[in-house]
Amino acid sequence: MSDRTVNDLGCVPAELPYFHTVGIGAGPANLSLAALFESATTERIALFDAAPGPSWHADLLYSGVRMQTGWLKDLVSLVDPRHKLTFHNYLVTTGRLYALLNAQFDAIPRIEYQRYLAWAAEQIGNISYSSRIDRVSFGEGGFTVHSDGKPLARSEHLVLGVGTRPMLPAYLGGLPADQVFIADGLAARLDAMRADTEAPVAVIGAGQTGIECVFRLLGAGFTDISWFGRHQWFQSIDDSPIANDIYRPQHVDYMQELTRTTRRQLIADHKLTGDALTPGALRALYQANYDGMLELGRYPVTLLPHRDVTSGERDGNDIVLRCTSPERREEYRFRHVVVAAGREATPLPLDDELRERIDLDDENEMIVESDFSVRWKGMNGHKIYALGASRYSHGLTNAGLTLLPVRAARVVNSMFGTHIYQVRDELSPVRW
Ligand SMILES: Cc1cc2nc3c(=O)[nH]c(=O)nc-3n(C[C@H](O)[C@H](O)[C@H](O)COP(=O)(O)OP(=O)(O)OC[C@H]3O[C@@H](n4cnc5c(N)ncnc54)[C@H](O)[C@@H]3O)c2cc1C
Repeated sequence: MSDRTVNDLGCVPAELPYFHTVGIGAGPANLSLAALFESATTERIALFDAAPGPSWHADLLYSGVRMQTGWLKDLVSLVDPRHKLTFHNYLVTTGRLYALLNAQFDAIPRIEYQRYLAWAAEQIGNISYSSRIDRVSFGEGGFTVHSDGKPLARSEHLVLGVGTRPMLPAYLGGLPADQVFIADGLAARLDAMRADTEAPVAVIGAGQTGIECVFRLLGAGFTDISWFGRHQWFQSIDDSPIANDIYRPQHVDYMQELTRTTRRQLIADHKLTGDALTPGALRALYQANYDGMLELGRYPVTLLPHRDVTSGERDGNDIVLRCTSPERREEYRFRHVVVAAGREATPLPLDDELRERIDLDDENEMIVESDFSVRWKGMNGHKIYALGASRYSHGLTNAGLTLLPVRAARVVNSMFGTHIYQVRDELSPVRW
C-alpha cells in the first residue's frame, strides 16, 4: 500500500502507508471531498471512520423519515453533474429510478440517501472503517493518524470531517439511563417501553429530531406524549426563495467579506433557514394528533412550547421534570424522557502539540479561512481543512448537506493551488 517509506519518526514503521490527504470521518462531507478528489488527480486520499461500515445517523434512521435537502444536492452534482457518483446515477444503476420518481416524494426518504452514500462509499478507493482516530500528530513530512495507540497512515494534508454528536444536557445527568436517554437511544428502547403504552413520555427539543421522536412514539401506540420546546411556538424552516438564497455560493462568498463579529450576528439570525422543523411536519403531526383524538377522546400528544426544562429528578418509578416559562414554574411526571436537545461538535483528535498550534478566535473557535483551511502555526505547506467544524466561518451551509460539493471543490482547488473545479453561481436577483 505504501508509496513512500518513513524514516523520520522513530515510532513509525517504514511500511506505514502515505497519502496525499487523509480525511478523518467518512460522512457525507469527506465522501464528497474524496469523490471530487479522486476524479481530479492521481494522488491518493484515504478516509478513516470509527463506524463499522457505511452509515449515516443510523440510530435516527427509520421508515418514514425524510431528507431536509433536495436530491440534486448530492455528493457531486452541483459542481460536476457528469461525475459517476451522482444520485441520479445511483438511481439508474440500482434500477430504482422509475420507482422513486413515481412515488412522487416531496423529500426523499433518509434511508434512500443513506443507501446512496453506502453505494458511493463502495466506489471510493481507500476508506477504512472500524478505525477511530484517537490521535493526530505532526512531524517532519506530515501528519500521522493513530488508532488504539498504533499509527495507521501518514499524509501531507489533513481534512477533519468528524461531524457532530448528540448530547445529554447536564441538568438531566445522573438519571436512570433506561428512563432518560437521547433520541438516538429511542429505537433500542422502544420494545421495552411498549410494555406500557399508556405511561406518560416526554420528548424534549423542538427540532426535527424532536418531532421525529414524537411521531415514532405515536406510531408505536403511545397515548400520552408531551413535547417540550423552548420557543414560543414550534418553528418550521423558512423554505422561501430568499431564505434559500442564503444557501448559494454567492452568499457564502459575501459572508467571507464580512468581519467575524458581523458574520456571527448574521449567522445567528439565519437559524430558521435551516435549524428548524421540515415544513409540513407540524401539519402532519396535527393531523395524526387529531386522528388520535377521534379515537381516544383526547389528544395523545400535548405540545408544551415556551418551556425551558431546567432539571429532572427520580421519584419512585417516575422522572419529575421541572421547567420554567415566563411567569410560571411547572413540574411534570413521566415514565420516560427522550432528549433531542441538540448536538455538539465531535471533539477533534489532535494531539496537544498540534492543538496548541491552531489559531482560535475570541470565542475559542478555530479560525477557518474561505478555502476551509485552518489557520495554524508552523504548517510549512501542510494544510488542515475543517469541514462542518466552524459554524461561524461559513454559516449554516457549513453544517448541512446543501453545498457539500462546493465545499469539496474549494478544498481540492486549494490543495492543488489551481481551479480544477469551477464553482458557478450566476443570475441571482439578490444583491447582498
Ligand atoms: C438525523 C439527522 C438528519 C439530518 N438531515 C439533514 C438533511 O436532510 N439535510 C441537511 O442539509 N443536513 C442534515 N443534517 C445535518 C448534517 O448535514 C449532517 O449531520 C451531515 O451528516 C454532516 O456530515 P459530516 O460528514 O460533516 O458529519 P457526519 O455525517 O456526522 O460524519 C462524521 C463521521 O466522522 C466519524 N468520526 C467522528 N470522529 C471520528 C474519529 N475520531 N475517528 C474516525 N471517525 C470519526 C463518524 O463516525 C461519522 O461517520 C442532519 C443531521 C442529523 C443528525
